[in-house]
Amino acid sequence: MELFNVYPLFDITPVKAEGCYVWDENGKKYLDLYGGHAVISIGHSHPTYVEKISTQLQQIGFYSNSVQNPLQKELAEKLGKQSGCEDYQLFLCNSGAEANENALKLASFITGKKKIISYKKGFHGRTSAAVAITDNPKIIAPVNETDNALILPFNDIDATEEALKKGDVAAVIVEGIQGIGGIYVPDTEFLTKLKQLTEKYVAVLILDEIQSGYGRSGKFFAYQHTEIKPDIVTMAKGMGNGFPIGGVLIQPEIEPWFGMLGTTFGGNHLACAAAIAVLDVMKDENLVENAEKVGNYLMDKLAAIDAAFEIRGEGLMIGLEFKQPIAEIRKKLLFDYGIFTGVSGQNIIRLLPPLSLTTEQADTFLAAFAEVLGSFAE
Ligand SMILES: *Cc1c(COP(=O)(O)O)cnc(C)c1O
Repeated sequence: MELFNVYPLFDITPVKAEGCYVWDENGKKYLDLYGGHAVISIGHSHPTYVEKISTQLQQIGFYSNSVQNPLQKELAEKLGKQSGCEDYQLFLCNSGAEANENALKLASFITGKKKIISYKKGFHGRTSAAVAITDNPKIIAPVNETDNALILPFNDIDATEEALKKGDVAAVIVEGIQGIGGIYVPDTEFLTKLKQLTEKYVAVLILDEIQSGYGRSGKFFAYQHTEIKPDIVTMAKGMGNGFPIGGVLIQPEIEPWFGMLGTTFGGNHLACAAAIAVLDVMKDENLVENAEKVGNYLMDKLAAIDAAFEIRGEGLMIGLEFKQPIAEIRKKLLFDYGIFTGVSGQNIIRLLPPLSLTTEQADTFLAAFAEVLGSFAE
């Protein structure tokens, strides 16, 4: 059978990984500043993580959500403490899109309304409601098209209020930091007013922290760079360090009823074990603080490089926007210097390394990056 060919692939076959490094089948070592698309939070194959999942699998790997699962409670407790969101409720699922899908459904259930406000350059997933509010017509199939999606200019509070005034908006969803769109940080004032307006017009404020959350921005959630308290927060990528798991944080006033949401695999024993190990390692190794420290270090050093690109981001979520396409820069970093980086559109490099990245590893990247830029400038 052939694979359904939807991904343009680099001709590299990783077979081993540890910390911020990946090795291919020929034994070549790569520095990972991409984190497998912002997924690797505590570093590849962390011994605590490997041990926790292996032990769990020997005990019980899966049972359905029809019986008690103490691991879900342990995860909720630890996540509450470490994120500073102890008063929220947690719903567990399997991916980012599924987290957003449930968040949107919840918002619609509790408000009885249908319209969703999202923003230009936003990405919220590929499932039906999530893709309908994503600003990328190429991935919206006819079956996903709906009048309920209002995609407004980013950071535009007036356009948002205009739309909210009509009274039919169930939710406003915004990324903590726009990721796939190219690393755009929402203005603090925009988020603050958004919080006030969603309260005023009785809409649910959803922060999509699927990429920007879990310590990546130097705070547990990127919105925590401000004072706002969202009604719902969605997360996934860094949560399982590669094990598929997603979560929805829900304000205490939102009351569940049996059957309101559900999933077969969500919150299973193995996924919970993985997510608990991630939180334990993040705490033991102060990885949120490290993301802030090494992120600031990287951004300061990048700003000192004599080349024309704009730097955006927070912590270890950094976008480098060039005037010209960056495909060749990225290829050279990968094949000549053994460094993985991410991309956004044609001209933005995205850095999304494991949160355990050291300043020495940052220096390795910086030296290579300066050389590559120099070689293209000649
Ligand atoms: C990746 C991503 C999603 C979708 O997550 P999947 O796990 O791929 O479904 C949603 N929102 C944001 C901001 C993302 O970065």
